[in-house]
Formats: sequence, structure tokens, C-alpha cells
Amino acid sequence: MSTESSLRADIVEIGRRMYARGYTASNDGNISVRLDRDRLLMTPKGVCKGFLTPDMMCVTDLDGRKLQGDRDPSSEILMHLEVYRQRPDVHAVVHAHPPIATGFAVAGIPLDRAVLAEVLTTLGSVPIAEYATPSTKELPEAVRKYIRAHDGMLLANHGALTVGGDVYSAYYKMETVEHFAKISLVARLLGRENLISREEVIRLQALRGTYGIQAPAPLCDPSTPLGAGPPAPLGTAVGDPGEPATCQVVQAPPGAGLRLVPDLLDGDQRSVRPGEEAEIRLTYRELSALIEDAIRSLR
Ligand SMILES: [Zn+2]
Repeated sequence: MSTESSLRADIVEIGRRMYARGYTASNDGNISVRLDRDRLLMTPKGVCKGFLTPDMMCVTDLDGRKLQGDRDPSSEILMHLEVYRQRPDVHAVVHAHPPIATGFAVAGIPLDRAVLAEVLTTLGSVPIAEYATPSTKELPEAVRKYIRAHDGMLLANHGALTVGGDVYSAYYKMETVEHFAKISLVARLLGRENLISREEVIRLQALRGTYGIQAPAPLCDPSTPLGAGPPAPLGTAVGDPGEPATCQVVQAPPGAGLRLVPDLLDGDQRSVRPGEEAEIRLTYRELSALIEDAIRSLR
């Protein structure tokens, strides 16, 4: 069991890493850990996470009342309290605004495609919690929808949230989310994303136990044949407003793997299947020539 002073030191270290990696700017972001059954240790309001000191932390109860500390707890305390309420297994919560993951959150694009084995074994999918005004009661409500089934999520037009069994585990998940976002962005810029098959995703998730990783939740989408995979709860996936998710939506095709994003590379027609719409890119001059040709053939 970690002592209070070592937990305070851990929060200082994680704050320093978050700021050094550009996951937070100015006073953004917040970190909390469970101190014991009834108390939390939380970063204070209005302090840059790169320059925390152990004595700055606030001790609160599980309703957010301050029990100890010169400063007030983070303005996002309600979101942290909601996570601890919903997830007794969670001992630490990290919130930041890592720029690439937050870019996906702003674009409304969840990180839910099966493209990286590492991500599938640790986090599964990373959904987007609906936009909510920061530091209001709306934010914990938006987080509640996904927190039981996910250890990491994007917050629409805001940032990202990760949770774990200790503060390092929660922080490393934040690193994974940002790294995943960076790789996804590069793959999309290159114009191609090869997806891992659903069968392989199930195999990877089954390996979690051997790595000592606890699965947050099984895969959703019972409409796809799952073979001998884990159970897929019905009717609780995305699109069921108000109902908390109890499974994860992972975009993984059955069989050998399909490409969600058609190839945009010249001369490669293989990814375009019959009946599928492919994107064609033309210069203005090529388009004009095509139109002129069409007009000529009409005459
Ligand atoms: Zn924030």
C-alpha cells in the first residue's frame, strides 16, 4: 500500500510529464488518486501541472468536500468523483488536453478502429463522450455513459480522460491514447488504414490475462459472427441514448480484414470492391477536360 507522501510525489511526477509532453497548456488538466476507502488526493485549481509540489494537493471525501489543503480542488472534481463512483476498481484518474487526441475529439472522430494490437489489449476502443461544459454537472453525465466499459475516452471539443489501478497506469493510458491518435492521423494522411480482423481482435483481448491487463468490457456488435469469442451484450452500444455502454464498439471486419478507408494511392484499385464507392481525385484541368469531352460526345 502506497503511503500518502509517495502518492503526492507520484502526482507531482505525472503532472511534470504531462506538461513536458505538451498534454496540457497553462493550468489545464487534473489528476487524482484514491488515498483510502473514503478519501481522494487531488490536484488543486489554477496551478500549472508542470510545477506542482507535494504540499499543494487537496484531500477530499468522495462527495468532493475538502478535508485538507490550502488550495481548492480542481474545477473538474465532479468528473473525477463520477469515475470513482462508477468504477470501484479505479484508483486514479488523469485528465488532459493532448493535442492530437483532442483534435480527434474536436473533429468528432472516435479512436475505435482496430489498427494497433497494443491498443486493443490495453484500452480496446476510445469513444467520444458528448460535449459538456467543463466543470459543470453535464461533464460527469457525459462521462457516465462510457466509463463502465472504457478506461480511456475523448471528451468532445475538450480533451481526454483515462483511468487506472494506480496513477502511473492511468497516465500511461493517456500516453497510449495520444500515441494512437498520432499514428491514426499519419495513416489517414497516407490514405490507407489496414484493419485488424475481428477474429484477431478477440484473440488479442483473450491474451490480456497473460499480460496481467484487465479487460474493461467485451466487444459490442453482436450482428457480426463472433466465433468462439467473448459474449457481446445486446442493446447497450453507442446510439442508445442515456443507457451506459457495457461493451466496446471496435471497428474490425470479420475475416481477413478490410480497409475502411479506400486506397487513394495512384494505380492501386484492389481495395475498391464492386459496388463500393471509391474516391476519385482530379485536378481542375482534368475535370474541365472530362466535361469538355462529355459535351463533345453530346453534340
Ligand atoms: Zn479539461
